[in-house]
Amino acid sequence: MSNRHERRASVADFRKRVSDDLSLIDRDPLLKRALAYWLASCEVGNPACIGCKAQFMDGSAEPCAYLFVVSPNIPGAASTSAFCDRCWRGDQALPVCQIETIVTRLLRLFLPGGSLEPLP
Ligand SMILES: [Zn+2]
Repeated sequence: MSNRHERRASVADFRKRVSDDLSLIDRDPLLKRALAYWLASCEVGNPACIGCKAQFMDGSAEPCAYLFVVSPNIPGAASTSAFCDRCWRGDQALPVCQIETIVTRLLRLFLPGGSLEPLP
């Protein structure tokens, strides 16, 4: 980014793209807050795909599948990560076993011994 105005416009565009078709997340207040926090952090950070490390804010990747880590030991807290569209779907998508390995490794950083569960 060359200046603050361009950065803000980029963040606004990014938020709009991410907000499309998130009806599952909208049903869960904790996940909705976690995603909002993740989006707010884009103002100061540059989130990357947890599969290929492509950065979302520079337009080289689009977030596609979100991973929310929720700890039973910390009520009301959730960590958010995302896979990009290339890693998640299409001809070059990561195999399910590789996605599970990445997700499990990330989950256990936050919650040792944690297990995966589908959205309610
Ligand atoms: Zn990726």
